[in-house]
Amino acid sequence: MTMQEALASATHTKELVVGAGALAELPDVVKRRFRAGKVALVADENTMRAAGDRAIAELVRGGVAVSRTLVFPSAPRIDAGYPHAIEVRDFLARGDEVPLAVGSGTINDLVKRAAFEVKRPYLVAATAASVDGYTSYGAALVLDGFKVSMECDAPAGVVADLDVLVGAPQEMTAAGYGDLVAKVPGGADWIIADELGIDPIVPLGWTMVQEDLRSWVRDPGAVGRREGAAVERLFGGLAVTGFSMQALRSSRPVSGAEHLLSHVWEMQHLHKDGIPVSHGFKVGIGSLGTTGLMELLLDLDPEGIDAERRAREWPDWSEREAEIRAAWAGGPQADAAVAACRKKHLSGAQLRDRIKRAQARWRGLKERVGSQLFSYGELRRMFVAAGLPVTPEQIGLSRERAVATFRLAQTIRDRYTVLDLAFELGVLDDCASRIDRSATYWR
Ligand SMILES: [Zn+2]
Repeated sequence: MTMQEALASATHTKELVVGAGALAELPDVVKRRFRAGKVALVADENTMRAAGDRAIAELVRGGVAVSRTLVFPSAPRIDAGYPHAIEVRDFLARGDEVPLAVGSGTINDLVKRAAFEVKRPYLVAATAASVDGYTSYGAALVLDGFKVSMECDAPAGVVADLDVLVGAPQEMTAAGYGDLVAKVPGGADWIIADELGIDPIVPLGWTMVQEDLRSWVRDPGAVGRREGAAVERLFGGLAVTGFSMQALRSSRPVSGAEHLLSHVWEMQHLHKDGIPVSHGFKVGIGSLGTTGLMELLLDLDPEGIDAERRAREWPDWSEREAEIRAAWAGGPQADAAVAACRKKHLSGAQLRDRIKRAQARWRGLKERVGSQLFSYGELRRMFVAAGLPVTPEQIGLSRERAVATFRLAQTIRDRYTVLDLAFELGVLDDCASRIDRSATYWR
């Protein structure tokens, strides 16, 4: 699906301008969409240099005043904590201008939520092809230590100047590639939930993301070299997949267990050399991890699992709750994890039925997931070519901590993924320790 076709399906985004020199169209977008003469701009020092100064010059030349600016420092780099969204909200509330975010993932998410809270549609000028969140509804923020997707509308307009995107730091473009490729294992998670009758695939959401995905990610080397056509294709893919979230009001089409691993690392404030690790890098390591997990899991003989016995030994809810609280060591995330797991907790009888269904459907599951995934080796080669990390250590994670994340990630959402299937079959810990010992996975 092309960007313009996806735009037509969008509920809130009405303007999408992508191309070299696109910033020059900003004043027209403001006037067309808002009939307004002034904007309030939010950026950080880096994005101000990358696009903010030019955006202001273009707006003024086009007769749109930039009456106020809020510029966050570049160091320490601002994180996606909800308190920063409140800061932006209070800034916006002091006027009635059109909010304009100039930045990438974090700035966009902060302004998206803040604009929603002051009930004003907003615009974003993208500064890197680094995430799928420009065109999505909802903002991924950290609230009380827990990574959540907070309700808010997608932007009214997105302006992406290719000259700016191509000039963004290479690791940001690589991160966007990681977030896009993540839709491959993420799609496999949806297949698992579909095959087991838990979360059926919605054709529109599936098609928007999966139909052209392989073509969008086909040339990682060109992404690594930041070639213009590759960056444009990457941004287009991210934009279309973002629109799928708008169309379905769900992130299911674009996000599976690889994002859950990433969310845990975000909650743990993962840093490398004093800098927060980007979303795309975490999701990339997550994608390698869940691809490995799926390969190991689907290679098992499911008939070796005794459903009756597992059902008898299955913990009741109070035991399970104690387990979850212990896993989070009573940290601030424990309550939210308990709430998420409560929703998906099975009785012993339900567990037996689930295992039997998985056993009955194993062949189909294996075939469908197998044809969805890139093999681990292929995925790793693509990541290296694009300039993405391939080992936990490269993003500041010890191997031990990375492997322990499978267990934690299973607890943070009720969305069904390979983590749940492995957990219910009783093989999650075993698969995790096989990844730990492996000479292939996360090496
Ligand atoms: Zn993502």
